[in-house]
Amino acid sequence: MNAYRILIDGTERPDYSVEMTTVFLPRIVCDVCRAVRLEWDVYHPSLKCSAKTLDAISAAENPACSWEQIEKLRKKIPRDDERLWDLPPGCQLGRQRILMDGPPDFPDFDLDLNCPLISEKALDILANNRITVYSGEVEILSFSSRKRLHGWRAVDFPNVRLMTENAIRKCRLIECKRCGEFREADPRAWRHHELIKDRWPRRLGVARLVESGRRVASPEFIEVWKRHKLKGIRFERIGKWV
Ligand SMILES: [Zn+2]
Repeated sequence: MNAYRILIDGTERPDYSVEMTTVFLPRIVCDVCRAVRLEWDVYHPSLKCSAKTLDAISAAENPACSWEQIEKLRKKIPRDDERLWDLPPGCQLGRQRILMDGPPDFPDFDLDLNCPLISEKALDILANNRITVYSGEVEILSFSSRKRLHGWRAVDFPNVRLMTENAIRKCRLIECKRCGEFREADPRAWRHHELIKDRWPRRLGVARLVESGRRVASPEFIEVWKRHKLKGIRFERIGKWV
């Protein structure tokens, strides 16, 4: 069965800006590969952090952070399911505030934002089909009136490890033994993904691949999305499920 990543489609989107209301886990510069671990697109609004926890994370933000320090901060964050939340350095936590310029017309899914959004309508349809998308509260305000707009939630992409060793080689991905960061040696080789179906968490709709960083959807998610003609994303083949 083919495997697909998620991309935005041509649906029109309103202009927007964000107010920095979230905090980041500290970044790490790896002493072996020199990669900066900064996964700014990993955003976890569904993790409920107290103001105290967010303050502690915010205070720890400095470029010289160690893995030990990250581990200490991670322990402060309550999680429902430990397996799904590999919180990487640099990921965003907390509630995002989006200022929207124009009519409230985000599509059902919008990836093209600092904080990806999904409509409550789409979430209901997916839930009725027993598909889980992790989501959390987002604050959307009209830029001019500062009025609160409803109907969307922030999407979480759990980090999952799904790729076969064979596909990691064929996609020319090189893993740093020290920090686990993957480097793409040949950006043209990405169509060789092989995703292990048995490792996909049951009923999960969307996730982010640790190995290649691609955001992928389950076959069930794609079937429901297309059947209900939901708007905002399209699916591009990246390889296959094995
Ligand atoms: Zn490294």
